[in-house]
Amino acid sequence: MLKARPFLIETLTAIGLLAAPFILPHLGFAPNTVNRILVWGLFGIGFDILFGFTGLLSFGQSAFYGSGGVFAAYLLTRAGFPYVIPALFLGMIFAAVVGYLVGLIALRRTGIYFAMITVAIAEVFFFVEFNPLADWTGGENGLPGVPTPSLNLGFTTLDFDTGWSLYQFLAVCYFVGIVLALRIVRSPVGAIFRAIRENPLRATAIGHNIHGYKLTAFVIAAAYAGFAGGCLGVMQAFMPPDAFMFETSGQLIMQSAIGGIGTLFGPLLGAAVWLFLQDFLQSALGLGAAWKLVLGLVFVLLVCFLRRGIIGGFVDLYTYFAGKGAAPEPAEESPRPADADEAGSEAVRVPAAAAAPRRAAQAGPAGPILQASGLTRRFGGLVANNNIDFTVEHGALHGIIGPNGAGKSTFFKMLTCELPPSSGRITFEGRDITGMTVTNVCQLGLTKSYQVNQLFNRLTVRENVTVAALAALRGRFRLDLFRNMKKMPELNELVEQTLELIRLTSRVDTPVSDLAYGEKRRLEIGLALASSPRLLLLDEPLAGMSPRERVETVALLKSISEGRTMVVIDHDMDSLFELVSKVTVLQEGKVLVEGTPDEIKNNEKVQEAYLGGMHGVFE
Ligand code: ADP
Ligand code: MG
Repeated sequence: MLKARPFLIETLTAIGLLAAPFILPHLGFAPNTVNRILVWGLFGIGFDILFGFTGLLSFGQSAFYGSGGVFAAYLLTRAGFPYVIPALFLGMIFAAVVGYLVGLIALRRTGIYFAMITVAIAEVFFFVEFNPLADWTGGENGLPGVPTPSLNLGFTTLDFDTGWSLYQFLAVCYFVGIVLALRIVRSPVGAIFRAIRENPLRATAIGHNIHGYKLTAFVIAAAYAGFAGGCLGVMQAFMPPDAFMFETSGQLIMQSAIGGIGTLFGPLLGAAVWLFLQDFLQSALGLGAAWKLVLGLVFVLLVCFLRRGIIGGFVDLYTYFAGKGAAPEPAEESPRPADADEAGSEAVRVPAAAAAPRRAAQAGPAGPILQASGLTRRFGGLVANNNIDFTVEHGALHGIIGPNGAGKSTFFKMLTCELPPSSGRITFEGRDITGMTVTNVCQLGLTKSYQVNQLFNRLTVRENVTVAALAALRGRFRLDLFRNMKKMPELNELVEQTLELIRLTSRVDTPVSDLAYGEKRRLEIGLALASSPRLLLLDEPLAGMSPRERVETVALLKSISEGRTMVVIDHDMDSLFELVSKVTVLQEGKVLVEGTPDEIKNNEKVQEAYLGGMHGVFE
């Protein structure tokens, strides 16, 4: 629906902004209140990109709001710089630079530690502006006398002084801010932001430099904050020192939560609710300072009952009624029979379609693609991998078996450099990759799927695969902030190919959280596949499947393996032997034996291990 119509949101925003001066006065909004809402809304767009889209909760936005605001106000008042609009942009650039420097430090930590660092940074900025820098910032007096913007069009000059005329200026700023933000969240970078929010570990493992992207989000948020800070000074003809207060950050977060996190418009709506309540309760009901009590209750109720804020509530309502009205969406490509087993009877019809185009790996050179020598990994006293030598030939389909705890997953983690070995060396395509990052190794063409699904849960199947494909096509970091993903034919081709290989073409728009287990397992493989690896490692792709699903998935793996080099872990001999041409048996962290499936089956040591009580674990 919404996706089908380009620029729908932009158009609605423009209409809303044009209509506001005619409607809002009837609802009791003074122009000054509406202007304040716009400034908060603009401030919040950046914050929502940072928190709602990238998942980074910063309590330090007041630092950038204040920095940008004071910088612009200083230029316009004390420095005698006469141009208001350029001053606002200079304030924005200043805030972005400050954001970059702060981000370099704050983003060294994640989660609660990141949030705590931002609290500390906000406090540091507050102190610095009030004390050491008081001569420049005006200290507790702020900077009075900030002029209003005007635009010289040659034949006439537009002055945006106060009230609804200033509204015009702020509304244009907000509109441009929203249009840019929408472009950003729809760009490849926006998709990666959401992937980082959902699963930073996997985003890293499929080849994205997530530190770079997080820093990008941080700088974007600081830039929006800086521009909005400048607008605050312009709007009030005075740059207030309380822009720097921690409370400003808190109010921004609460307003965003009220309106709806991850919606871009949430902060605007939240600010409208907040400021309306403030005006209404304080003056109309004469509650004085007690209005915050009511606000607190409203906040708690909203957060408890509308977890995604007011906008989220509306979206849910719309989906509910739209879902009721319309017939259930037909599956796009190949409709599945209603009673089809979730793992997809589709998987059985694999081979013909899956002979579809695949990335060139087959014509590659002969000889080893990967060599590990003397790989050892200790966890405290436990030796999980003990002096393993291992070679994979180009084009091979190699299996690893071993009981639970044999060290198979640890071995894969070391091969993909997710885990550093305690000792030993890994060579991939003739290059020593020991000690490299998992991101760089993936970019070189070596990646794995996980034993326990590592997906982007709130994203759809297509978005999941897209995020992986983006790393393959764009490298570890690229700032194509305004690029339209729909206009990337290679991307769409790679995504479609992958979806077809993993038999999920009919589920493209389903969020991962709604997939059946077998489908999730296939998507798990799909993420690794979309990275277009030259060597693909699959950690127990058959884990947790019913016998029937196993048969289907083995067929799927066979079709995937054509023209690829793959290493597959499983603890079930029968399924694996059917698939691979060479097997390595791991036991207690060591290579027990290596050979063709027949050799392994007839090997005395293996039989002994089986008869010696391991049969149960091998099943
Ligand atoms: P497998 O995949 O063959 O079942 P793993 O590689 O997961 O085996 O584990 C091998 C051994 O290493 C197990 O004894 C496990 O408890 C231990 N191990 C794995 N990861 C860690 C870790 N991060 N910290 C401590 N011990 C670990
Ligand atoms: Mg394992």
